[in-house]
Amino acid sequence: MGNKNTRTSISELGEFGLIDRLTQNFTTKNGSTIKGVGDDAAILEYREKQVVISTDLLTEGVHFNLMYVPLKHLGYKAVAVNLSDICAMNATPRQITVSIALSGKFSVEAVEELYSGIQLACEKYQVDLVGGDTTSSLTGLTISITAVGEVEKDEIVYRSGAKPNDLLCVSGDLGGAYMGLQLLERENEVFKVNENMQPQLVGYDYILERQLKPEPRADIISTFRKLGIKPSSMIDISDGLSSEAMHLCKSSGVGCNLFEDKIPMDFQTKKMAEELSINPLVAALNGGEDYELLFTVPLDDYEKIKNDPDFTIIGHMTEASEGINLVTAAGSAIPLQAQGWNHGAAK
Ligand code: ADP
Ligand code: MG
Repeated sequence: MGNKNTRTSISELGEFGLIDRLTQNFTTKNGSTIKGVGDDAAILEYREKQVVISTDLLTEGVHFNLMYVPLKHLGYKAVAVNLSDICAMNATPRQITVSIALSGKFSVEAVEELYSGIQLACEKYQVDLVGGDTTSSLTGLTISITAVGEVEKDEIVYRSGAKPNDLLCVSGDLGGAYMGLQLLERENEVFKVNENMQPQLVGYDYILERQLKPEPRADIISTFRKLGIKPSSMIDISDGLSSEAMHLCKSSGVGCNLFEDKIPMDFQTKKMAEELSINPLVAALNGGEDYELLFTVPLDDYEKIKNDPDFTIIGHMTEASEGINLVTAAGSAIPLQAQGWNHGAAK
């Protein structure tokens, strides 16, 4: 990455020089990548598999705040959230393209930081960077990533396949990313008032990672294969459990009972919530950005999933007429509200 103190302006390198510099350390690893960066378009070969494609667009000030999000983390997360969408189809991610619009405040070194995070994610998840586009912007950074993956036709899982009596399950734990964001925002406010204040982040490494460095659950897709499970429906949790559960129910034409006291939450999530006087349930239900997988399986698969530490059964599907309900610890059913996390101010 060169000397931390050097600042090379993008105009010194020019667009093509910048693209060369950003992509020179990337190598392709997948057989399906025939041609990556360097021509007018990439060439992929998928033979008898089905091809899965997903895109996300992130804008500075709306989806991320560079005051407390390091560029390297941003690059990693931008890739991670796209791979998560591919995983949510029960597919394996293989390639990405990365398009960026940059304002004058970004140096070549800053964009290299962004790409070092992109590269880290590519290596961890064994995906190839096969192209993109580079342009200028008047207002900060915009980054758009497209991910491509593969899946056998009969392995694809849509949002629409849940049936009444199916078990509703989730991977990992929820609410951590939201509580991590609350912590970062609190410290950012303190910093704005007094630049000499050191951030109080000790003991909260897990929720900070959940916010800054989310991991797509590609491992869960492998676990499904190993356990011989094909979920009847699935979605990744980007906007919060409530809204994703409603998506599954609406797409599948079913209802559900989701049990409040079954929702998995980490100790740090609960501790931070207590410190900030936030109900941790609200973080799990409406916080979002956890990038866990929410899925349903037929009741017959209960034995296969009950002992897996990655999975928690949080409810079951019902006839649509029974509604979409949160069952409280006291046993009363209340209709679920989808609030979806709004990324920053807009949306
Ligand atoms: P074109 O003029 O056809 O858009 P470019 O000069 O933009 O071509 O791109 C040249 C090559 O570099 C292409 O393979 C393109 O996909 C790739 N590329 C351009 N920008 C990026 C980027 N930000 N990240 C990765 N690859 C990029
Ligand atoms: Mg171009």
